[in-house]
Amino acid sequence: MMIIDIRKLNAKKEYCGQLHFDYEADNSLIGIPFVKFSAPVSVDFSYELYEDDALEIKGKVTYRIEGQCSRCLENATMTVEGELDALFEPTKDAEDYGYFGGIVRLQEAVDDAIMASMPFSLSCGENCKGSAFINKTDDQEE
Ligand SMILES: [Zn+2]
Repeated sequence: MMIIDIRKLNAKKEYCGQLHFDYEADNSLIGIPFVKFSAPVSVDFSYELYEDDALEIKGKVTYRIEGQCSRCLENATMTVEGELDALFEPTKDAEDYGYFGGIVRLQEAVDDAIMASMPFSLSCGENCKGSAFINKTDDQEE
């Protein structure tokens, strides 16, 4: 569980610091057919706890996906890095994310960071054979 206990941070006066979580993300976060996470998502961020008990986190999510190349259907893997930037407020009408009972639950913000950084397709690399015959008439990015 990715949680941060605000009461503990206040008691220890740890108002800022670095945290790391390994997160077993659900494959439903991936919008590409026949692709799944090949390892837990690495969640790294620094946090700052403000006087009004709002908690700001800034960092990144890093994950590896594997499955069929979207063009040639060969096996492919890809490492993706996404930005994690969220503010948790101890109120119901929080603008960003809210939290209750002194416990911040990170999952929603981390899931959002994963989905925001998720590529639309998986490619086996520059030498993908699929691009040669499927996209022959398309303009290549190079
Ligand atoms: Zn390919």
